[in-house]
Parts: sequence; C-alpha cells; structure tokens
Amino acid sequence: MRILIANDDGYLAPGIAALVEACAGLGSVDVFAPERNASGTSNALTLHQPLSLHTAANGFRYVSGTPSDSVHLALTSGLIPKPDLVLSGINKGANMGDDTLYSGTVAAATEGYLFGVPAIAFSLVGHGWDHLDAAARVACQVIEHVLAQPPAPGPWLLNVNIPARADAEQCPWQVTRLGRRHASLPAVAQHNPRGDLFYWIGPAGEAREGGEGTDFHAVASGQVSITPLQVDMTDHQRLPAWQGWTSRR
Ligand code: MN
Repeated sequence: MRILIANDDGYLAPGIAALVEACAGLGSVDVFAPERNASGTSNALTLHQPLSLHTAANGFRYVSGTPSDSVHLALTSGLIPKPDLVLSGINKGANMGDDTLYSGTVAAATEGYLFGVPAIAFSLVGHGWDHLDAAARVACQVIEHVLAQPPAPGPWLLNVNIPARADAEQCPWQVTRLGRRHASLPAVAQHNPRGDLFYWIGPAGEAREGGEGTDFHAVASGQVSITPLQVDMTDHQRLPAWQGWTSRR
C-alpha cells in the first residue's frame, strides 16, 4: 500500500513526523507538505505564481504553497505513483465543527478525496504537542481498522479528532457529526513599534451546538471523534422549498 501524508503545520512540524512514524509498518510513505505553517488556509490553491518543491534530508518533500497545493502536486506531478490513501496531520489543535471549513488539515485530506483517494485528517485536541505519541498510535489504529473493515465503498473522507491524553489508546471511538461554533471573537487591533495599526483575526468562538452526537461532545467526553465528511455543500433539506420558490416568480 502507498500512503501520501500531508499537513498544514508545515513539513517540520512534530505532528507529521509522528504520523509518518506511526504508518511505517502500513506501507510505503511519501510526504508532501507546505514549507511553512499554512494553518487556516482551507482549500486554497496557488494559481498566480509557480511552486517550488524540495526534498529534505529525511525524504520529506516540501512545497512553497498551501496544503491543497502539496497534495495536488503529489497527485499530478508524476513524481510518485498514485497513493491508495491520503493522510493529513497530525494537526496541532482541534478541527471540529465550523473549523473544518477553514482547516488546511482537513483541506489536504479533501484534496485526496476529490481525486478519488480515501483520505483521513487527524488533529490533536489540546494545546501544544502533549501526548502526540499516543495520538499517533490512535491514528494508526484508526487507519488499520478502516482499511480492514471499510463501512462503505470508497472513496471516503474522515475527520478524526484525538484528545491529548496519555491514555488516548484506551479512549472509546465515536462516529460523530460536526457541531457548530459561535462566530469568532472580535478582531484585535495592535500598533507595531513604528505606530502602524494592524489587526489580528480573533480566536474561534466557543461551541454553540455541541450536543450529544457532535464532535465537540465526543472529545469533551474523552472519546476519539470520527466524522465522515462530504464535499457537496448543497442545502438538500431546503432544496425543494427553493425549487418551489423559483416556480412562483
Ligand atoms: Mn494547523
């Protein structure tokens, strides 16, 4: 089996090294990742400038672009054979609820999925890299289980959030839906040392819909959250109402 691994924290991040190590026994691994931290870049592709691609001493390839650029190049440059599985992470910090729309971690996996390859995004829910090793072992367990017993024909796209705990391997797994967040906190204005005014995007809001069955609830209850995602953003529930609306014009 061939595995492509990407992330959004950059090729030097501890999370991608841990994921590569965890996958060592599962097949041959190729790494394509952004050269810098590209968290929060969503599915952006770099269309108006060329991308540089280099290989680090450890064999990781790094790209002067986004997470989606990295996976896109891996799949279209002809440098590696088509992978059987695309993995992303392990991200530093949660990617739950509305965060998944902004997440470069989820986007890297999504890029694989869009090319017809099963894909999984992994995130470590905590601050910093505490208990990364335990999270990597959980990631390996999830990969092995889904490959051995896929619940549905592929390709599929999973978003996995792992609590940062030493005993993460003992945490139950829960298949969840995405919760919702409140809008992010206000932007923070700051002056630089030369008196120019700048703004920082505010931090994410608290969970607004974090009830039972959501990713927020699972992780808060000490469980590994596994959310199957899809790309179709159509509002299927209200589609008939909208279709009726045009007929009344
Ligand atoms: Mn990140």
